[in-house]
Amino acid sequence: MAHEAGQHVRHRSRPEWGVGKVEGTNGESVFVRFGDQLKTIKISFAEQFLQPVTAEELAAAKPAARAGPAVGHIAQCPECGKALTRNADGEWRACPNCS
Ligand SMILES: [Zn+2]
Repeated sequence: MAHEAGQHVRHRSRPEWGVGKVEGTNGESVFVRFGDQLKTIKISFAEQFLQPVTAEELAAAKPAARAGPAVGHIAQCPECGKALTRNADGEWRACPNCS
């Protein structure tokens, strides 16, 4: 299986990592983000251990499992337009201006 950026995967021997997202490859390794951890996995291991996650599985996953990066300016407050961030659990932080 080819590992393409944006693909969602699960690690067969690390189910506790939840659903990860492939960020890219360099021809030797695959970089996969699980929550706020970026894992580097050799392609030979990736073939063996990374299992694709279907859209159906993704939709059924717990919100925290598909929250993506835990920290980052990835949305804006609908009230004032200020960039919002997520906490380590993947939940939105309250807008500092409006709360
Ligand atoms: Zn606001």
